[in-house]
Amino acid sequence: MTTPPSPHNRSPLMSLDDAMDRLLAHAGPLQSTDSVATFDADGRVLAQDLVSALQVPPNDNSSMDGYALRAFDVTAPGQVMPVTQRIAAGHAGEPLEPGTCARIFTGAPMPDGADAVVMQEDTVEVGGNIHGVHIQVPPQPGQWVRRAGEDVMRGAVVLARGERLSPASLGLAASLGLAHLSVVARPRVALFSTGDELVMPGEVAPEAMKPGAIYNSNRFFLRALLHRMGCEVSDLGIVPDNRQATLAALKTAADHHDLILTSGGVSVGEEDHIKPAVQQLGSLDLWQIAMKPGKPFAYGTVKRDAGAGAARGEACHFIGLPGNPVSSFVTFLLLVRPFLLRLQGVKAVALKATTLPAHFTLGKADKRREFLRVRRNAAGGLDLFPNQSSGVLTSAVWGDGLVDNPAGSTIAHGDPVSFVSFSDLLA
Ligand code: AMP
Ligand code: MG
Repeated sequence: MTTPPSPHNRSPLMSLDDAMDRLLAHAGPLQSTDSVATFDADGRVLAQDLVSALQVPPNDNSSMDGYALRAFDVTAPGQVMPVTQRIAAGHAGEPLEPGTCARIFTGAPMPDGADAVVMQEDTVEVGGNIHGVHIQVPPQPGQWVRRAGEDVMRGAVVLARGERLSPASLGLAASLGLAHLSVVARPRVALFSTGDELVMPGEVAPEAMKPGAIYNSNRFFLRALLHRMGCEVSDLGIVPDNRQATLAALKTAADHHDLILTSGGVSVGEEDHIKPAVQQLGSLDLWQIAMKPGKPFAYGTVKRDAGAGAARGEACHFIGLPGNPVSSFVTFLLLVRPFLLRLQGVKAVALKATTLPAHFTLGKADKRREFLRVRRNAAGGLDLFPNQSSGVLTSAVWGDGLVDNPAGSTIAHGDPVSFVSFSDLLA
């Protein structure tokens, strides 16, 4: 006699790397672009290479306040040189007569004929009627001169398509004269929370909470995380608690968004409406990922109506995160973040890890790859938050990053461990 398959049979766990590969295989870059003011482009991703039409700096110029001269003309310390002109930043000088020098200021173009600058600290003004200086230290050719093009050569690709712009890159783009930049459109994300137990802060006071009710905390950090990833967010609140309303909400969201992101309701045996509704409107794969926190995870698609929405493709992405707050937070950082970067055309999405010593012990190995909430200490090591439960959001606030601990590994005090900082993941 054969046993009928039980719905509670455990499907084999998928590794996080496999889950990432599968997820990223769906993340084709968005095709639409925006032209934005360089001022407003922080965090956006370039849609085209920036090629410099000029060299930066445009001319050889002084990197010091001092005197521009020909190094060859100074033969001994203390030699007197007449000062024949004065060149301030933003003004061009005259060609330099041999045997003379020009008073020059930082950023001012070098006069023709000069090949070095003596900083004013290495000079002494000559008294009396002669306008001249003693050059105390004979200069080397090229000294204190910034060369034309030493920052950027004409024709160079200064920033490449797919690079995410930082404050420094905005400055660099501006130094090329670019007031506007072509960037990939922001992903439009519809955010839903699921769960009948959820209530909203501000709507129900703590003393009025019914038994079993909890505040919807995921909605707050997910919305903030999406904004940090450059998304336009439609926060659609808590999923309506009937099937028809859920179907209607998903359909409308699919037409107008690139991704529908939900939290909760992806565990085995869930009662939420969202799972069957996504299945009905498209497809849904439920993954059991071998990671802790954050085992249940769903990827799917919701078909769009032919018409306005279809210009964006036939279907909208769907990602379902686990409901436990820390699981939701960590799976967002490890899976949704790279997905959103890829939608914006970023190629390099791998985790940046550093090795640091554990200043704690982990006596019990887990079968799953574990992401422990830790904090760097003043001694250069990592401390562990004592409660690593996936419901304890305090751990994610206290911690400044995650230890990526391989499946089946214990940790002894002093062991080198792989640390991924939240500041890298939240940027
Ligand atoms: P679920 O994945 O829906 O089974 O939820 C797992 C746990 O996370 C349950 O204890 C839920 O109450 C909790 N949870 C789900 N959604 C949220 C949310 N938006 N905010 C806070 N906790 C949640
Ligand atoms: Mg639930």
